[in-house]
Formats: sequence, C-alpha cells, structure tokens
Amino acid sequence: MQKQQNRKFLLNILSIIVLIFILAALFLTFISSKLEDMRAEKLYLLQQNQILQNNIEKKKVFFEEIEDKIADIKVLIDEDRYHDNKDVKKLLSTITNKQKQLIISAIPSGYPSISRRVTSAFGYRIHPLLHTRKFHHGLDFGGKLGTPIVATANGIIEFSGFNKGGYGNLVVIAHNFGFKTAYGHMLKKLPYKSGDFVKKGDIIGYLGNSGRSTGPHLHYEVKFIKRVLDPSHFVTLCGRNFDKIATLENRVNWNALANAVLNQLSLQTF
Ligand SMILES: [Zn+2]
Repeated sequence: MQKQQNRKFLLNILSIIVLIFILAALFLTFISSKLEDMRAEKLYLLQQNQILQNNIEKKKVFFEEIEDKIADIKVLIDEDRYHDNKDVKKLLSTITNKQKQLIISAIPSGYPSISRRVTSAFGYRIHPLLHTRKFHHGLDFGGKLGTPIVATANGIIEFSGFNKGGYGNLVVIAHNFGFKTAYGHMLKKLPYKSGDFVKKGDIIGYLGNSGRSTGPHLHYEVKFIKRVLDPSHFVTLCGRNFDKIATLENRVNWNALANAVLNQLSLQTF
C-alpha cells in the first residue's frame, strides 16, 4: 500500500516537471520568434532609411543644379543688381584709397595661382565635352599639373573632396561678408578638410585634370550670397581699378560691404 502511494507521488512530481519543461520550451520558442521578427523589422527600417538618405542626397544635388540655373538666368536678364551706378559713384567719392585697399584685402582678390592663361571665360559657351550651349560660371586657367592653388581671401573650408557633379577634386571656401570661392578639377591631394581655417595665400590644392575636364586646368568661381560673379573682375582687383570694377560688378552690394568692412576694422582698433 505504502509502496503504491510512493509511486503515485513520484509520478505526479515527474508529470509536473515534464509540464514545466514543455511550458518553458513553448515560452522560449515564442520569445525567439519575437526576436526574429524584431531583427527583421530593424533590417527593414535600416534599408528604408538608406533609401531615404539616397533620395535626399539626389534631391540636394538636383536643387543645387536648379539654384545654379536660376543664378545663370539672373545674370543673363541682368537681374539681382544691388545698385545703379549713381549709388556706387556716391560711395566711391566718400571713401579714401586706404579704405578701398582694406575692402580689397577683406574679399576674394588676386589670382588663385601663377597659371594665369585664361582658357575659358565666364558666360555662355559651347561645352567642350557635352557639346551643348551651357553657362560657364567660372573662369578657367590652363597650366602645369601640380601648380599650387591658393586661397584668394581668408575663410573657412566649406567643402574639400571629390564632387560627382563634374568639378572633380573641389575646394569651396566661405569668406567673410557673404563671399564664396570654388576651385575645381584639382589633384587628389587636398591639404585642408571641411571646417579648417585658411588665410589668403595658403595652398589649398594643386592644379589637376579631375572630373569633367579636357586637360589640366583650374576652374575658379566667385559668388556673393547666391549670385555668380565674373571672377575676372576679382583676379585683377586692385587700388587702381577698384572704382571701375565696383561700378561694373553690380551684383555686389558695395555700400553695405564698405560699411561692414570699415565698421569691423574700426571696432578692432579699440
Ligand atoms: Zn570651368
């Protein structure tokens, strides 16, 4: 009798243990399938994120191209002017030669390298590779591979790297007072990275043939806010021709610029 009861008790314990094992196994299967679902969801979200990032990048390039086209059209229809000659004449009659020199030294001025042979001017041209009529918003200088290229004013490197849009190895510098300069088709060796400070005359790259280019040359651009400017005005800018160029280049707000430069420099003397 006692023996039978003991056996029954053991059987009960055994069946409880088996039940616990079955429940634990079921629970683990459930958890692992949930984890699998979560992993799959994470992978899906990461893929979607990558697709969205790529789309944003494509849209950014597209909008930059549109902005450039609008700037080109504005140059053509002679819009976006800041002044008529009378405003500039008034300014030029009130500032001294020394003050003009200060303005010149604060904005992009002078040649970006010793290679000064202009191979393509600013304006409409038949593109040498695309064979279509395109607006050329820079000035091209032909020269020897490896010729040092220098910053034409103090500034912060905005971009330094390879541009897929055709510029090849490109450096863009953001200067004071709304100016920007860009240097395209350079060699791969770029001494500065985005965020670095450069002084006027610092070597920022070397003349190359990268990107959409038919031969070794530098593509040089000057911009004022979103306006594309003719770089030939700025490479030759000096005290002697300041009045002539300020009158000619009506996409720069020379009155505001003179105020800003002279105000900042007078503040620094205190
Ligand atoms: Zn060019």
